[in-house]
Amino acid sequence: MKIGVVVLVLISILILIKSYESKVKGYVGEKLVAKKLSKLNKRKYKIINNLLLKTLKGTAQIDHIVISQYGIFVIETKNYKGIITGNEYDDNWNQILFNNKEVLRNPIKQNNGHIKALKDVIPALRYKKINSIILFTKRSNLKVNTETTVIYYNKVNKVIKRSRKKEFTKEEVDYIYKKLNELNIDCFKQRVVHVKNVKRNIKEAEKKLRKNKCPRCGGKLKKKKGKYGKFKRCKNYPECTFRINI
Ligand SMILES: [Zn+2]
Repeated sequence: MKIGVVVLVLISILILIKSYESKVKGYVGEKLVAKKLSKLNKRKYKIINNLLLKTLKGTAQIDHIVISQYGIFVIETKNYKGIITGNEYDDNWNQILFNNKEVLRNPIKQNNGHIKALKDVIPALRYKKINSIILFTKRSNLKVNTETTVIYYNKVNKVIKRSRKKEFTKEEVDYIYKKLNELNIDCFKQRVVHVKNVKRNIKEAEKKLRKNKCPRCGGKLKKKKGKYGKFKRCKNYPECTFRINI
């Protein structure tokens, strides 16, 4: 009898975890990275986790940003399972799990959007080089070919500390840190709206892809063969550069 109750409770917990899985996974990944980054020397490196900025087009959510005299690092964290394949310029990457191929948005492009948002809100950074780092947790098996730093999360501090050239003064670092904290949307309601918008955009893009249409401009997608295998490209290329691996 007692065992039956325990099993039932366990099953309900499992169902609950399953339904919140993607949310929890994202959260867990970000927590792991935040903990790792907190080990950096606090006098040299200023960190903001989960930064939400208002942009011209809506909002941009940056997982982590590290500000130091040795550069600014905008970090995107992914907590995915399976083999992850992709390269620098594809619109989408693939996640291969149990022979099943899932499509995910190229996180490099996603993070480039974050860097652009950062430059929009702090115009003084417009002509500065901002470092993009994409982190994956160890649940994934990375098989990517990129120029941007795409690594396992445990290597992040090593990569950040590798930058030794001074790019900013102490005053500039303090200014950027203060400014971003001021701009950070701390309102729960706006954060919920941001998540909803992201979900809606993803749904709309998926709908268009199913109809063999370009999620960016609505143009028809055409099959092509390239260096990295077969892919589809928008008929409006080169005006529209959307492409997806197939
Ligand atoms: Zn297009």
